[in-house]
Amino acid sequence: MTSNPSYVAVAVATPLRRDFHYRLPNGTKARRGARVKVQFGNRKLIGLITKTDVVPDIASSRIREIIEILPPEGDLPGPILKLCTWASDYYQHPIGEVISTAQPSLLRKGESPLDPVEFLTLTETGRAVDPESLKRAPAQRRLLEFLSSEPRTRQALGKKEITAQTIRTVIEKQWATWQKETQPEASPFVLKGVDYQGITLTTEQETILDTIDNRSDNLPVLLYGVTGSGKTEIYLRMIEKALSKGKQALVLVPEIGLTPQTINRFRQRFNTEISVMHSGLSDRERATSWWRAREGMTGIVLGTRSAVFTPLKHPGVFIVDEEHDSSYKQQDGFRYSARDLAVLRGQFEQAPVVLGSATPSLESLHNAEASKYQLLELKQRPPGVKTETYELLDTRHLEIRDGFTRGLKSRIETSLSRGEQVLVFINRRGFAPVMMCNDCGWIAHCRRCDARLTYHLNTNTLVCHHCGSLSHNIISCQSCNSQNVTAIGVGTQRVEQTLGNLFPDYPVYRVDRDSTRKKGSLEDLLDQIGRGEPAILVGTQLLAKGHHFPNVTLVAILDVDSGFYSADFRAVEKLGQMLLQVGGRAGRADKPGTVLIQTAFATHPLLKQLVTSGYADFARGLLSEREEAGLPPYTFQAIIRAEATQSSAAREFLALLEKKTRTRDSVELLGPIPAIMEKRAGRFRQMLIIAAPRRALVHQTLADLITLAESLPEASRVRWSVDVDPADLF
Ligand code: ADP
Ligand code: ZN
Ligand code: ZN
Repeated sequence: MTSNPSYVAVAVATPLRRDFHYRLPNGTKARRGARVKVQFGNRKLIGLITKTDVVPDIASSRIREIIEILPPEGDLPGPILKLCTWASDYYQHPIGEVISTAQPSLLRKGESPLDPVEFLTLTETGRAVDPESLKRAPAQRRLLEFLSSEPRTRQALGKKEITAQTIRTVIEKQWATWQKETQPEASPFVLKGVDYQGITLTTEQETILDTIDNRSDNLPVLLYGVTGSGKTEIYLRMIEKALSKGKQALVLVPEIGLTPQTINRFRQRFNTEISVMHSGLSDRERATSWWRAREGMTGIVLGTRSAVFTPLKHPGVFIVDEEHDSSYKQQDGFRYSARDLAVLRGQFEQAPVVLGSATPSLESLHNAEASKYQLLELKQRPPGVKTETYELLDTRHLEIRDGFTRGLKSRIETSLSRGEQVLVFINRRGFAPVMMCNDCGWIAHCRRCDARLTYHLNTNTLVCHHCGSLSHNIISCQSCNSQNVTAIGVGTQRVEQTLGNLFPDYPVYRVDRDSTRKKGSLEDLLDQIGRGEPAILVGTQLLAKGHHFPNVTLVAILDVDSGFYSADFRAVEKLGQMLLQVGGRAGRADKPGTVLIQTAFATHPLLKQLVTSGYADFARGLLSEREEAGLPPYTFQAIIRAEATQSSAAREFLALLEKKTRTRDSVELLGPIPAIMEKRAGRFRQMLIIAAPRRALVHQTLADLITLAESLPEASRVRWSVDVDPADLF
């Protein structure tokens, strides 16, 4: 008697917002999370079983059978599948694409996460060979004898100095073959030692750790403390506690925060297996790390945004450092927030979550206010760690030459002459942001974007920082042909040149994407700076995260003013966070640091509040502005974006959507409005913003809009995408 056929739902990486039903081959058992090979249209694809025992949604005669169920070492564990399902629903993104994001690419392709190791193994014939008969071939004899006790890897054969020729001969004689072994024993990680490096906790740190230990609920903790206040030390203690119970830790850091300094701090503290997930890993390494974490062989997983999907066999703690950092939000495709997903994992997997920052996001502060997070604050710095002081340098009525006022130059000089280092921060790479014709006023613009071209000195080119377009014609005006063109404004390269001229006796190190493109060059620069000799560091954001420069006593921040002009309501929040993050690089050892902010907005009340009474007051000010204006985090938003090469197509598409959608009372549909940079890389971009006082309302409306959009023939003329909880309006 044959049993009734059973059916499963399979997620396949397609833009379709649904899963697909398949029949299980007779006699096989389905596992949720198992990868399967299926026929999809006229292609064979690797999908993933999301549900078992489903009732098919089409006639059973039309349902196809699964071609193959792949082995369990590639299964997506339950909690990660649950996370993906939740995220697909919340971000309204196709489940198949969500699962693809969560998996290492080798798994997506149907390969095993295990690195197959080849062993040379004796065959039956090989075993039967009498070694005595090989007197004339001593090398072959040695090989057969070596294999007689157990199969050997290439590496082991190499160590015995057995040549490739000998191996080939023996294989040709069919005495031995290579066999793949892919199932090494999974053994749990071991914590072999902890090195505290002489650090004893401060009372404040003790209190925070006690509070976390003795809670009756598992609210996410928002750990707020200025740079250098000892947050990382708290993470380390929580990780230690987890490890000592045999549980694992997942630590997320911002994209450019995964520095050697950060990694070393974890390695020095814990003698155990730590897996670092960064973009430089090969597909194989990534898959191996994934598997080892899944099997509980790794104690700590340290990584950037996508590491939030790393499965843990025994989850112990989830940590998100610099939780305000914008790199946690994916900016295209599946636009998830790794921070928010980490919070969710903590709930699903019942492990504590710590979000740490010196400048918490307004969302997180608001969540703390609403008692959804528990706010814990480090108010003092540990002994020996000094606090930096902030000063605003008002540039109004002053002459600024090549980016510097006279006063700023002399402050730099003083620090250098005391043998200290100076960090000059300017968040714009290249030489100058504007190239202008002095005869007709023409300005070099990108042909494909609403953006000016930046002049780069070293390559003598005009570059678009938004689409990468490059132009070598920099000497003549494209409007009147005059040769009288000049580069106006400052970028890192001009700052480097100016400082080099002003202070010829001191080295100037420029750290930006251009100067660190070559592998290892960032490490080299950091090594030189680390020697601590008087020098000037010029850099962008790259310098501002994860690095500590103990000998830097002066930080000069140039050109922050664009933050005050931006059309994005988050610009001032981001500016404030950036100023304190950069400022926090200064004076971490015995020397106190000073941070000079050169600005024409020195009397701006929020900026003044930031430097005089600190981030908490600044954030409170911003929060009440947001509340009054009815903006997030007091309301919720989603954006439908559309773009097209034809200038009006995106706007027309969104206008149609807007017209055909009936919104409930408190839901607002704003738009279509152009993105802040309307044209980028040759495409015209528009958006439709959905705003409402409750999340559920945004989601209902969004779901309606998506259904509608999918049914409109006009959709084929545009590329459209969905962004829930958008982080910017660009
Ligand atoms: P944050 O993560 O808030 O920037 P860290 O944890 O990195 O702060 O601490 C700043 C510096 O102070 C580090 O060099 C760290 O080793 C040191 N530190 C942290 N806690 C203590 C402590 N209790 N006693 C002495 N030094 C400490
Ligand atoms: Zn001109
Ligand atoms: Zn461009």
